[in-house]
Amino acid sequence: MSFSNGEPKLRVAIIGSGMGGLVLGLCLKKYAADTVHFDIYESAAELTEIGAGIAMPPRIWSIMGALGARRGASYDHIQAFWWRKSDEQQPVDILYSSQIHTFHRSILQQLLAKQLNAGESIHFSKRLASYSETSPTDPITLNFKDGTTATCNLVIGSDGIHFAVHRTMFNELANEAESSGQGEEAARLRTMVEPIWTGQVAYRGLAPASALSEELSQYALEAPQVLCGKNRNMALYPISGGRFGSVNILAAKYTPGSEGMVYGGPWSEPADGETVVKEFEGWDPKALGMINAIQEPFAWAMHAVRKLPTYVKGRAALIGDAAHAMVPYQGAGLGQAFEDGFILATIFAHPSVTLANLPAALTVYDEVRRPFSQGVQKGSENFRLYYQLRRLGWEDVSAEDSRAGRYPRELLSLIAKEIEKQGEWAIGTSILSERDGVVERLAALSA
Ligand SMILES: Cc1cc2nc3c(=O)[nH]c(=O)nc-3n(C[C@H](O)[C@H](O)[C@H](O)COP(=O)(O)OP(=O)(O)OC[C@H]3O[C@@H](n4cnc5c(N)ncnc54)[C@H](O)[C@@H]3O)c2cc1C
Repeated sequence: MSFSNGEPKLRVAIIGSGMGGLVLGLCLKKYAADTVHFDIYESAAELTEIGAGIAMPPRIWSIMGALGARRGASYDHIQAFWWRKSDEQQPVDILYSSQIHTFHRSILQQLLAKQLNAGESIHFSKRLASYSETSPTDPITLNFKDGTTATCNLVIGSDGIHFAVHRTMFNELANEAESSGQGEEAARLRTMVEPIWTGQVAYRGLAPASALSEELSQYALEAPQVLCGKNRNMALYPISGGRFGSVNILAAKYTPGSEGMVYGGPWSEPADGETVVKEFEGWDPKALGMINAIQEPFAWAMHAVRKLPTYVKGRAALIGDAAHAMVPYQGAGLGQAFEDGFILATIFAHPSVTLANLPAALTVYDEVRRPFSQGVQKGSENFRLYYQLRRLGWEDVSAEDSRAGRYPRELLSLIAKEIEKQGEWAIGTSILSERDGVVERLAALSA
């Protein structure tokens, strides 16, 4: 990296090379190559990604356009979704709506990593343990698990749900509240130091189209589907419209009353398809057939981050799952990490932002991104309650009655209406106009 004034105005440490970290790095490379130096520290020895599909809403697609990253993404696909109630032998249609791009996740990652020239920007096998910011002007020290240290003047926690930056930040916020005599606030902040279990385990993986019977192929390749049921839900979609010859499947089980408890086992581990099928007893046989077809299913104990009072402290900021890990029922977590990285890079690249006014600039990030991403986080939680038939009058329908089809039919249209209403943000808002609003606020910062 060479800088217009010989020295960069900022030295940024990005912790974690997931989607958020990659997008932030790529945007800095594109928009601030001559003013901002960045290093990405990644705990893994190389870029590894679970080979599953992701959905990509229009807001993110427009970031891909702004980055010039669509060209290599010709494998994208746009499809509409079916929502069905499938916890009975004969599934019942709820809604057919909404268009979405679907991608193979590891291919998207490779595309971003190639544009970033990841080999040069990422320091692998570097797991952050903590950071310390001892004064507003001294460099921040990064402490790695291997005993080494590094310095920067700005640290970004894009280290996902297994975060270290978030933990340091919220421990410090709680300690500061305690030392200023705010015991209750300190206790509240301590509840935010770690992620919480959402009471669900998701079984996830890919089913190769070649392993499906003709009937199941037709069923799974027709359109992406969200399958609803009492305390259980599924999602399946052909990746990139089936061009990759596989279907992405997620089947989630909720254990009533277990939200917020500590999850006893490993957060992710290989699962056994037959055991999962038993959990979905009474469901549409085609849905069960899809669970059985998953190759190498993995079980994920789904964790989330509580609603945080801030994403920034001093010269540290959180993006992506480290800030707002959410249940995946809008397919929005990855997109929100993208948006955070894009907006944060816009801020760092702006000529009015300097080391001296960095905390004020980070406040702009917090004030713009936190309400939006927490709205999406809440929306995803609402979706889960609808998909698992736990709201909108479904509270009074037992699992047995639901499976037997004994419920008022108008409850289905209530779900359809709410799904359409909740999803409006994804198509009716623009990340590019939000970026323009941020740029206006930054201009005011220098005035
Ligand atoms: C079962 C499941 C299904 C999902 N489905 C979807 C979907 O369909 N669509 C969607 O948009 N989202 C989905 N998500 C959510 C999505 O995966 C996340 O929101 C997204 O990956 C967040 O990106 P991130 O960059 O914040 O974190 P991550 O992608 O998790 O990346 C974090 C990176 O930081 C590294 N790291 C961690 N700790 C440290 C440390 N201490 N030091 C250095 N590096 C560290 C990790 O190795 C990793 O590379 C799903 C999640 C789950 C669990």
